Amino acid sequence: MNIKIRWKSCPFAMSWSLEVVQEVYTRLQIGAAAFQEFALPHDTIVGSLRQTRARAKYGAEVLYSPSQALAYIVDKAAFNRALARRALDAGVAIREGARAVTLHTEPAGVHVAVVEQAGRQYTVRAQLAIVACGVRYKLAKQLGLGMPQEFLQGAQTEVPFVWTPYTEIALDKSLSPDAFGWIVPLETGWSRVGLMAGSGAYCRLTRWLDRLLPGWRETPDIHVGCKLIAQGGLSRTYAERVLVVGEAAGQVKWTTGGGIYYAILCAHLAVDTIVKAFAQGSFTASTLAHYEHAWKRAIGRELQVGRYFRKLFRRLHDAQVEALLQLAERHGLMDLVHAKADFDWHWELIVAMLKHADVRKIVLAPTFKGYGFACHFCALRTLRTMSGSGRGHHKSASDRAAHHTCGRALGCPAVIAPESLTKIRPTPRQRLGWPSPLYSLALAGHACAERDALAAR
Ligand SMILES: Cc1cc2nc3c(=O)[nH]c(=O)nc-3n(C[C@H](O)[C@H](O)[C@H](O)COP(=O)(O)OP(=O)(O)OC[C@H]3O[C@@H](n4cnc5c(N)ncnc54)[C@H](O)[C@@H]3O)c2cc1C
Repeated sequence: MNIKIRWKSCPFAMSWSLEVVQEVYTRLQIGAAAFQEFALPHDTIVGSLRQTRARAKYGAEVLYSPSQALAYIVDKAAFNRALARRALDAGVAIREGARAVTLHTEPAGVHVAVVEQAGRQYTVRAQLAIVACGVRYKLAKQLGLGMPQEFLQGAQTEVPFVWTPYTEIALDKSLSPDAFGWIVPLETGWSRVGLMAGSGAYCRLTRWLDRLLPGWRETPDIHVGCKLIAQGGLSRTYAERVLVVGEAAGQVKWTTGGGIYYAILCAHLAVDTIVKAFAQGSFTASTLAHYEHAWKRAIGRELQVGRYFRKLFRRLHDAQVEALLQLAERHGLMDLVHAKADFDWHWELIVAMLKHADVRKIVLAPTFKGYGFACHFCALRTLRTMSGSGRGHHKSASDRAAHHTCGRALGCPAVIAPESLTKIRPTPRQRLGWPSPLYSLALAGHACAERDALAAR
């Protein structure tokens, strides 16, 4: 059921819709601070997010235990209903199941053509329209406002099983090369399991569930939902008599895909601009441009740094992620995390991390794939040997046998050809002074080496 809201007391219509539908997932995480900042309905909270454990593919893990709840888990349907109730109390008219089909601006106002589920059609006329229709971009395209820079896919389900008391973040490139997976234990005795990926999120999640919970496909209560997640803002989020807010404007975190906090924050900034527009009686694009300046001032840096982080994360190899988590445990990086981590604001932590020399060496290391290795464990072994002896070998029968053992144990898809070992050459970027490939690759793989040896045994 979609709800369309119109403010009775104001001479303008809103195309802001609220979802009161019981979806395939029923819980949302919203930063604890947002509840204070925007007086969000506390009675919709059903749990809190405290201890979080990030785990890499080969087993390195970091446990983050903040002293206070980072975020609250809310009942999505109750949360949406509570907001809808507040809107009704403030004089908003809600039209359920109504869809805005076209939006035309004229000198005297905006005209929104609406179709109801029953098929009834009518036009709403108003001074100003707010487009807040999530990842549907038909109206934004009609207005020539562009599209978000890219999209991720988010797939999620809830399953009747709890594996762990922590919120688990799975950093495994075979699960998602672009982002991560999550398992959030719920108060109901179920867990929320999901992942974000550039493509194939639904299949990736169902394959993960096959590993986590064999036989889940026979359980009728488990439904996997999949949805696009906008990444990066529209080229413009205002036009004459129109503002675009929330995911429709691309106001979504690049890091986690969460968008509710930014949507609420930017909606408040939109209201400031709208109130001024009514006071001045001016709804021109230049008056409404204040909204875009305001939201970019508020979250622009987050989006920029988040975008850089996503690009960086995409090119990391599992071995690098493993090395990063091991580094976090050993080198006091967790102090940095405790000092800078925030559920909604990430740029400070990202920048602080990237200032750390060892982190930089790991994340800026070139990916192993670039060197044509079929097995990065062999690449690591070779690199270690090379840095010790000053020349590459790894061509002996015993080395190749070691590859076979470790490769098979760790599920490497193919066996390395000795010729490919000659492909280690500095890339143009490294020639320009980027970290030494041997050193940084060896560092990146240092953490894997022990596991490698263990698996080979
Ligand atoms: C799997 C998954 C899990 C997520 N979990 C979280 C989380 O835990 N915390 C968090 O902060 N974010 C989360 N997000 C992101 C979050 O859901 C979105 O960022 C957020 O819902 C955006 O809010 P919005 O109001 O802009 O858009 P939406 O919530 O998408 O609402 C848009 C509404 O507009 C309606 N609509 C669309 N087109 C029209 C039209 N033409 N006319 C009328 N109505 C229309 C839609 O039906 C919908 O009701 C998650 C996303 C995914 C995919």
